[in-house]
This record gives sequence, C-alpha cells and structure tokens, in this order.
Amino acid sequence: MDINARIYVAGHRGLVGSALVRRLEAEGANNLILRTHQELELTNQNEVEQFFHAEKPEYVFLAAAQVGGIHANSTYPARFIHDNLAIQTNVIHNAWKQGTKKLLFLGSSCIYPRDCPQPIKEEYLMTGPLEPTNESYAIAKIAGLKMCQAYRKQYGFETICAMPTNLYGPGDNFDPENSHVVPGLIRRFHEAKLENAPEVVIWGSGEPLRELLHVDDLADALLLLMRHYDDEAIVNVGTGREVSISRLASLIAETTDYQGNMHFDTSRPDGTQRKLLDTPWLSARNWTAKIDLPFGLAETYRSFCNDFRLPAG
Ligand code: GDP
Repeated sequence: MDINARIYVAGHRGLVGSALVRRLEAEGANNLILRTHQELELTNQNEVEQFFHAEKPEYVFLAAAQVGGIHANSTYPARFIHDNLAIQTNVIHNAWKQGTKKLLFLGSSCIYPRDCPQPIKEEYLMTGPLEPTNESYAIAKIAGLKMCQAYRKQYGFETICAMPTNLYGPGDNFDPENSHVVPGLIRRFHEAKLENAPEVVIWGSGEPLRELLHVDDLADALLLLMRHYDDEAIVNVGTGREVSISRLASLIAETTDYQGNMHFDTSRPDGTQRKLLDTPWLSARNWTAKIDLPFGLAETYRSFCNDFRLPAG
C-alpha cells in the first residue's frame, strides 16, 4: 500500500477509525477519503453505491460498525444485527465492484465461541455456541468475515479479516451504560471522585479476565496487515496479556485518583470469563503491543477530560 494511495477509512470518527487516521497521517498520507455519518449513511445501499462509484478508493479500512459493551449488545440486538450486516454488505460489495485493491475488515475476539480453549486460535471460529450477550453482533461479524472470504474465493478480491481483542483508547464512547468496560469505568470513577461518592459500582463479579489492546497498537498492526498479509485466513491481534476486571478497576481508580471503595454488582452479567487470543502471524513477525495498560489508561483518561472539557481533578 502506497501511503499516497486513495485510502478510505470507513468510520473515521470511531475508536479504531480515528486511530487509523492518526497513524496514516503521521506516515504522510495525503489522499485519505473520509466521510462523517452525516455525510454518508453506510446502511443505505444507494448512498454507498454512489460514493464508491465517485471516489473509487484503492484501499479500504472497514472500521465502521455498530459497537457497544455488554449492556448495549444485549439491549439493542436488532440494531446490532441490522446495522452491521447492512454496513459491511454495502461496503464490501461496492469496494469490489469499483476495483478496490485491498479491503481490511474488522472482526472481534467476542465472536469466537464462548467456551473456547485459551488462548483462542483462529481455527476455533464457529466451533461452538456464542456468548449470548453479544450474539447479534457476532452473527453479523461472522457473516462479514465469510463474505470477505467468499469474494476472495469467487472474484479474487483481496480482503483481510483482522480479529482484535478488547480495545480501548482515546476517542472511545464514554457513555455510562452503553460503552465498554474501560471508558465506562473511567467515567464512573471520575464522576464519583468529583461527587465525593463513597463507592463506585463495578458490573459483575470482577473475576472475568480481559486482554486489553490500546487502539494505537491496533492501528500499527492493521497497517502491517494491509501491507504484508494476503491470505483468506482470519488474523488475531492481541497483546498476550490479561487483566481481571477487579484489577482493571483498581488501576482505573489509581488513574483517576479516586480514593473510595468498589462495589461489585453481581446482578449485572460477567459475560465471557476469558478470551485471550493466540497471535501466531504477528508473533512470527516479532510484533508486540508497545503501550502498557497503566500508560494507556492515563492517556485515555486525559483524552476523556479534554473531549468533555472536564477538570481532571
Ligand atoms: P465484553 O468483553 O464484550 O464483555 O465487553 P465489556 O467491555 O462490556 O465488558 C467486559 C467486562 O467488564 C464484563 O465482565 C463486564 O461485566 C465488566 N464490567 C464491569 N464494569 C463495567 C462497566 O461499567 N461497563 C461495562 N461495559 N462492563 C463492565
């Protein structure tokens, strides 16, 4: 991929898309094609068809998706299955039709079967029942992976499917209910500190383990894949390191300088107990994530305070 090629980042305002844009611009990309949600409705077939016909991007990073944490996934299953199927179908099909050279699609570690052996190998996909709290999202993403593989097989369209582990970083969605665990807790701890609240509620038992990847490390891996990977097999992207939700909560308490207590609300779901990824392709290239969790959390907290113009306290 020539850095000056016509590169379309779908979803450039989101967590992954904005990290990709930061990284591509840092490398000198000067032909990025970007559209906000207001400018281009990716669930609309006609709009997407016209956009690809007019712009003919050479490379596509498909980072646009309807995403959310454990609560959003189980509360809005119709939105998650509909929007993701529509977005990916429209983008993949029209990219192929308009001669895109290579397209990178994003799956997720949460679309592997719930009770996978750990670490999760790519070949475990579709070998068992899914985690019920995010089944709609998972089914849509699995359809996207299969669509990429089918277009490669039938049309020779160069598609790549990356499977990132749990992500966090600047530009995340910090909604208290619908976000993922890191932004959700950053917000809750920050507000508790400002209000001098005696305790912060953490969902679930605190026991599940999660592998957390900073989104700038993901962007680094995705560029490596776009440049050097050319196979139909899906590719895991992770850090190889796990943290329990209770340890993560303690780290976020330190980051936000919250001095009160933590209360684990076990009426809230834990979701999958573990989902650690095996990353053979990246390991063979000596790729490792560079941003450690305490540093990444501090940086994410700073971006939260800046974006919302909040006092860091
Ligand atoms: P998941 O990896 O798909 O389950 O995504 P999440 O990031 O939503 O949740 C990860 C884990 O963190 C689950 O075990 C949740 O129960 C737990 N958790 C604890 N507090 C929170 C919170 O405030 N928000 C979210 N989303 N999860 C939380």
